[in-house]
Amino acid sequence: MEVTAHTGVVCILGHPVRHSRSPAMHNAAFADQGLDLVYVAFDVSEARLPSAVDGLRSLGFVGANVTIPHKEAVVTLLDETDDLAAKIGAVNTIVADQGRLRGYNTDAEGFRRALEEGWGRGPAGARCLVLGAGGAARAIVAALVHAGAAEVVVHNRTSARARRLCSDAADWSSVPVRLIETEELRRAAAEADLIVNATSVGLDGTFKAIALPVDMVRDGHVVMDVVYSGSMTPFLAAAHGRGATVIEGTEMLVQQACLAYELWTGRIAPVQLFRHGASGD
Ligand code: NDP
Repeated sequence: MEVTAHTGVVCILGHPVRHSRSPAMHNAAFADQGLDLVYVAFDVSEARLPSAVDGLRSLGFVGANVTIPHKEAVVTLLDETDDLAAKIGAVNTIVADQGRLRGYNTDAEGFRRALEEGWGRGPAGARCLVLGAGGAARAIVAALVHAGAAEVVVHNRTSARARRLCSDAADWSSVPVRLIETEELRRAAAEADLIVNATSVGLDGTFKAIALPVDMVRDGHVVMDVVYSGSMTPFLAAAHGRGATVIEGTEMLVQQACLAYELWTGRIAPVQLFRHGASGD
């Protein structure tokens, strides 16, 4: 693809960001659909985030993705935020319209689509256990309650953060969302239909700090890990070994990226190309 003076620019702002698969996925799709757009990655420190976001306006970017650790901080730097992103309190996609920046959260719907793809059904009526209470967990809890889960229980290393999530989620729907402490985990896992690791544990390929005793996982459980590493995380591999249906974080990565692509381009995203780009093949 030839980059000219007319080429539109989309980027990802994060720190670190060099490991990101987003440039590979989006550039392959832009080329495939003959769009005069290019996607680049910028490593931006927390201190520089306000000037980087202002740069999107000044330089006429088409849009951007936002990733760790900026998804929450970016919300107050935008001109508008859609309702779901405002509820979740995190933005992962920005659309620029004549210099005005509007924030979206495609992680929630990306999670729901990945779940449906891997499980063959949505979470309606399911009892769900979510590990973690950061940005990804907030998007996942929002997706679960909006899709009509029967109940959601949340466990996090830092209880105060999980308590805040449960308290916010009480305003999102009538689905019960409650905090559980470590001693309640075994019972919650036994009772759950769906277990989601929404912590970053496993990113480095080790098993060390996962809170959930894997011996509680059984045939009949659906287990998803948001961490994407190109291969199954140790947690998913163990769950798979115990007969659970497992869903890798890569599919959520693909689905959230397709949704962002559609917001920027108005085109249907070529999902297989995104899968190819995400797997790094
Ligand atoms: P945050 O920094 O907002 O939250 C991190 C979460 O992980 C917190 O709940 C934190 O607990 C927990 N955590 C971190 N280290 C440990 C540990 N050693 N032991 C126990 N808990 C720990 O990050 P995000 O929520 O934005 O992202 C979480 C993960 O999800 C990342 O790996 C990210 O790459 C992935 N992700 C994947 C997506 C996909 O499309 N597949 C989309 C979005 C995110 P505490 O509050 O106690 O610190």
